[in-house]
Amino acid sequence: MPVIDLATLAARLPARPLTRFAPSPTGYLHLGHVANAVWVWGITRALGGRVLLRLEDHDRGRCRPDYESALLDDLEWLGLIPDVGTVAELRRGPSSFRQSDAGEIYEAALAGLASRAGVFACDCSRKDLIRASGDVFNEETPYTGRCRSRGLAPALGRGMRLRVDPGLERFDDARLGPREQTPAVQCGDLLLRDRFGQWAYQFAVVVDDLRHGVDLVVRGEDLLESTGRQLLLGRLLGRASPPVFLHHPLIRKPGGEKLSKSSGDTGVRELRAAGVTAAEVLGRAAFLTGVQPSDVPLAPDELAKLFGVG
Ligand SMILES: [Zn+2]
Repeated sequence: MPVIDLATLAARLPARPLTRFAPSPTGYLHLGHVANAVWVWGITRALGGRVLLRLEDHDRGRCRPDYESALLDDLEWLGLIPDVGTVAELRRGPSSFRQSDAGEIYEAALAGLASRAGVFACDCSRKDLIRASGDVFNEETPYTGRCRSRGLAPALGRGMRLRVDPGLERFDDARLGPREQTPAVQCGDLLLRDRFGQWAYQFAVVVDDLRHGVDLVVRGEDLLESTGRQLLLGRLLGRASPPVFLHHPLIRKPGGEKLSKSSGDTGVRELRAAGVTAAEVLGRAAFLTGVQPSDVPLAPDELAKLFGVG
């Protein structure tokens, strides 16, 4: 039984589709990233497509240049070669494939969005958001709409949000099938830029997928619930047809618990230092994410065959 129906997926895409591998340099590369890379490169090569490498360093507080250069080193060591946004280009300096170099692009996209949709300034602090939602606040707590009709002028110390009206977003996940989501209920008015001037993940990633021409988004199931809001945002930004989404399983330790970057046994650097080969790392990640039946080594040019080609 193949992992996905490749022919059906190919029929939804252009001839040489563009996918992306888009890590955040907030730490060192670990098996969870490698599992995502196995899906991204494997499916893309099986489809005869191209992989774009994008560094999602929109969070200036958590991203570091040394993590970025380690990430590029580890990708090269693993033999995972992007076709667009090459490692050499990213090493050379400013690049349109690095979010921290794209501030002017996000400014222009925000201005365009504000001319077409309800964008408003919001001065809610974290404390305000917690107070408004009682004690149940977490990152997924929907925005209450407090600043929607206050008419605040955009200013330093104020975030920017997109008004999200009730409505259903439908999409057909290439692995999970038809899905329906309601962003107004899930997240409410979407944060585009935070109070400290940092671009929000959801906004930066949708602007990037549009400007880079990404046809297929292959990512972990932890981002499944973000899809509806990203479809809505993409449409309002002027995207004529959305990318195809494919959400894959996250990897688990043999005991069942989720892997984290902090656990030393899953870092590519640690495995490499312990004498594990690149093919063994790729093979282990492919095994842990369910695309090969056992933990055996796998060369980069063997990834396509996991998805039915080769
Ligand atoms: Zn507010």
